[in-house]
Parts: sequence; structure tokens; C-alpha cells
Amino acid sequence: MTRPFSYARAADAVTAITMVAERPDSAFLAGGTTEVDLVRQHVLRPGLLVDINDLPLDSIEDLPDGGLRIGALARMSDVARAAGVVARFPVISQALLLGASAQLRNMASMAGNLCQGVRCGYFRDAMSPCNKRDPGSGCAAMDGFNRGHAILGVSGKCIATHPSDVAVSLVALDAVVHTRGPRRERAIPADDFFLLPGDTPDREHPLEHGELITAIEVPATPVARRSVYLKVRDRESYEFALASVAAAVGVQDGTVAEVRLALGGVGTKPWRARRAEASLLGQPATEASFTEAARQELALATPRPLNAFKVELAQRAIVRALMTLTSGETR
Ligand SMILES: Cc1cc2nc3c(=O)[nH]c(=O)nc-3n(C[C@H](O)[C@H](O)[C@H](O)COP(=O)(O)OP(=O)(O)OC[C@H]3O[C@@H](n4cnc5c(N)ncnc54)[C@H](O)[C@@H]3O)c2cc1C
Ligand code: SF4
Repeated sequence: MTRPFSYARAADAVTAITMVAERPDSAFLAGGTTEVDLVRQHVLRPGLLVDINDLPLDSIEDLPDGGLRIGALARMSDVARAAGVVARFPVISQALLLGASAQLRNMASMAGNLCQGVRCGYFRDAMSPCNKRDPGSGCAAMDGFNRGHAILGVSGKCIATHPSDVAVSLVALDAVVHTRGPRRERAIPADDFFLLPGDTPDREHPLEHGELITAIEVPATPVARRSVYLKVRDRESYEFALASVAAAVGVQDGTVAEVRLALGGVGTKPWRARRAEASLLGQPATEASFTEAARQELALATPRPLNAFKVELAQRAIVRALMTLTSGETR
């Protein structure tokens, strides 16, 4: 079945925003690595796609205060290999390199990555009951094949896992998403940018229609120099996470003085592990403390029979990431 739609290429941000804001059935098009798939699969049925690739939003800047500003259209591969990112925010670089494939990373933009749709097979088949695609229709995953689905932040309406890897590192580092809409500019903390499904799983972001992401800013975070992204998946490349961990830790005199922890592959949004962080602060940097912190975080989990294995997997991943970062301190 063919579905004609219009394509336009915007030369500046105001034009792009106006074009999308004026038509309810329109959307931005960046690298197209998600958008085009979803259109082809009839999950999305846009009347107009507004190509934003000519907008000057692809810079990657080291800020004077030690922070980082990443343009919305910076490609995943360029961000992953930027010297300032590799040296000061290795967790971001690693999360990017462990995602998708080299070819995809060359096309895929940072903003597109944050807005990529869920990978739930029932959402993407364009036929099954799915509250996210067709609000009120039900959720085929709830009693279906949900091995890859979320165990944290789930609701009775949707249990799809948030798929982005780099978003997990950005949430751990308190990044801020900058946007420009038809009416205002906003700075949205990354943790607030991703919405829990609740009763409205069709709404994944607080973006208004026509609101354009312009940049992502990561504040200066000295502890991030010692950070890691650990991704556990069914195969070693070209696969989404079953569980992943973005971690940064500072140890003083054998005690955890600062820690950042977020989880991927297990949450309906990139999951900041605040309970685990609170449990770790001031504790000895030992496997026993890490295990207890992981246990406390995963006590929040609501697994289903097919994905119950993720509870232990995520706990083990947290411990392994923290041990990797602190092995010089604890042995
Ligand atoms: C086979 C495959 C494997 C993958 N594996 C992984 C993986 O392991 N880990 C991972 O993290 N990702 C993975 N991805 C996802 C990939 O990273 C995303 O498809 C990509 O980042 C999307 O970026 P894009 O520029 O192509 O976005 P597009 O496809 O162009 O757009 C995606 C969405 O973002 C919106 N959008 C784009 N730019 C903006 C903007 N500036 N402001 C507001 N909205 C915007 C679009 O309207 C659209 O809704 C995989 C993808 C594929 C196809
Ligand atoms: S888990 Fe969410 S995305 Fe998947 S079928 Fe259910 S409502 Fe749709």
C-alpha cells in the first residue's frame, strides 16, 4: 500500500519549526534511520517530513567551564570520537560506540537518538493492540513476548523499554536538552525529558508539536573522567541492551565520595538509579556495598515471567561496572 507524503528541506530553524508547527501530520527528519523505517512500516503516517539537515546544529564544543555542548544534528560517530568527549566524558563515547552499527552511527543524529521510537515488536508491526501507537487499543506485550521489555517504570498501559544507549549516559550526567518551539525556548533536564508511560504511553517527551531540539548540554562533571558504559545484550554488536549501566564514581580513602549511576535496557525511560546512588555515598568502595546498592535499586522492579531474569542481570551489571571503575582502589 503506498501512502504519498510531502518532503521539504528547511534552510533555517524558524522555517523548520513553522513548517512543522503549522501541520499536525508533519515531523522533523534528521538522519532518517528511525523515521524512515517507521514510515515504511506504516507505524507513522506523516503528511509532511521537514528535513532539518541543512540547519547549522552539528557542532561539538568543549565549554570554557569544563562542560560540553552537542548540537542536535551532531552525528553519533562524530560525538563518540571527539577528543573532549573521549577524555572528559568516556561514558558518552562508549555508550555511542556500543549502539547501532558504524554506518548507522554516521547517519544518526544525537537528537534523533533521544527521540527514536521504542523497539517493541507490537508497536512496530502496525497491527497489534498498542496503547503507544493507538491509544486505548490495549497492550499486546503485557501477556505476549516481553523478554526484552522493561521492569522499571512500567505501567498497566505500556512496558516498552527505552532503547537509547547514549540517553542513559546523559541522564547519569544531568545533561540538559535545549529546545526551540513555536512560542518559546526551553532547557529541559534530561531526566525530565523522558516521560514514564503512566496512562499516556503515546507521549514519550514533553516536546510540543513543532518544538525542535537544538542542543544537548552536559555540565562540567570531573568525576566523569572515570566513567564507563557497560552494555549486556544477546550478541556483541548491532543489538539493543538487555541491561546496561552508565557509571561514574569518585573514591576517597576507600570510600565512595561521589557517584553517578543510570540504567538502560530495563526501564521505560533511561533510569537514574537514585536509590543505589544514595546507598553508596559514604560507603566503602567494595563489592559488598555495590551489591547492596544494586539490590536496593532493583527492589523497585516489576518483572513479568519472561523478563524476570533482568532483575539479577541488572544487579550484576551494576556491580561489574562499579568494580571495573574502582578495581585499582579496592584491591
Ligand atoms: C538496526 C538498528 C539498530 C540500532 N541500534 C541502536 C542501539 O543499539 N542503541 C541506540 O541507542 N540506538 C540504536 N539505534 C537507533 C539509532 O541510534 C536511531 O535510529 C538514531 O539515533 C536516530 O537518529 P536520526 O538522526 O536518524 O533520527 P530520525 O530517524 O531522523 O528521527 C527520529 C525521530 O527524532 C525526531 N527528531 C530528529 N531530530 C530532531 C530534533 N532536532 N528535534 C526534535 N525532534 C527530532 C524525528 O522527528 C523522529 O521522530 C538503532 C537503529 C537501527 C535502525
Ligand atoms: S509495551 Fe508499549 S509499545 Fe509495546 S505493545 Fe504495549 S503499549 Fe505498545
